[in-house]
Amino acid sequence: MAEHSQPNQPKRVLSGMRPTGKLHLGHYHGALKNWRSLQDGYECFYFVADWHALTTDYGDTEIFANHVVDMVIDWLATGIDPGKASIFLQSAVPEHAELHLLLSMTTPLSWLERVPSYKEQQTRLEGKSLDTYGFLGYPLLQAADILIYAAEFVPVGGDQAAHVELTREVARRFNHLHRAPVLAEPAALHTQVAKLPGLDGQKMSKSYNNAIALREAPESVAKKIRTMPTDPARVRRTDPGDPAKCPVWQFHQVYSDANTRDWVREGCVSAGIGCVDCKKPVIEAVLAELAPIRETARHYENNPDEVRDIIRQGSEKARQAASATMDRVRDAMGLSRW
Ligand code: SF4
Repeated sequence: MAEHSQPNQPKRVLSGMRPTGKLHLGHYHGALKNWRSLQDGYECFYFVADWHALTTDYGDTEIFANHVVDMVIDWLATGIDPGKASIFLQSAVPEHAELHLLLSMTTPLSWLERVPSYKEQQTRLEGKSLDTYGFLGYPLLQAADILIYAAEFVPVGGDQAAHVELTREVARRFNHLHRAPVLAEPAALHTQVAKLPGLDGQKMSKSYNNAIALREAPESVAKKIRTMPTDPARVRRTDPGDPAKCPVWQFHQVYSDANTRDWVREGCVSAGIGCVDCKKPVIEAVLAELAPIRETARHYENNPDEVRDIIRQGSEKARQAASATMDRVRDAMGLSRW
């Protein structure tokens, strides 16, 4: 039987992030809050995708060690609980690489070439040489990441749905070729996540310089929100505005209750409130959200060995789950054990 689970076992979820160092509010609202709620209902495996980072940043490897610990500190600080979810490092579970290699024998090149992000990323990351074997193969590595845990679900945003579909095709082809249901087909788990844009209304990203880091000092957070651009039509305090043209409004949609949002809408279109007033509740709400995160992060910053132990233990659990799948894969492919 392909699935790992017995009838009463919680279903498995797998998700990962490339080690980008300290995370920001976009990561929190777009992924981590979702991870935190999933860990209560599913058996979750959350991994630091360091091999994936190498597919685009192979020339810049010195940063990795610090980025791994820094990112996991943010996971822990936002409530990802190692008692509930296995937190692990991809490269600490070499079985991912073995499955990737074995799947590469049977995956047609055209399946990888047609993955939408292949061409898109090559264009977007111009200046990096991405005509590499590793970069073309990264969706297959991602398929191996998922299939090796027999994960039933993978939380997805829009662009990753194609990757889950490819994973399903890879599993089907493998099972067909080897005439056994060895690999379980995962399903995409579409969950409602709040979209928080950057301070300028674009996607929040460290490289766009429009991000609020989860561990950012309160004064800096307040200053960034105070100086956020608003509807350009509101040149003077007496000019009416339109919340739909203002990134602050998008923050209100994530952070404010219905009453505050009514107050903003009415005050903005009638010029009854100024933008400084309008930003105050956002500043308060963001600071209130970040205070406990910063506090917990401080504990782990002072105890990095505790973080490394969490990653080591999570990686050990992940290896056990991965090697169970690899035994079945090797058997199906006629690779005897010696
Ligand atoms: S009042 Fe608020 S929503 Fe309207 S432009 Fe100013 S900051 Fe934006």
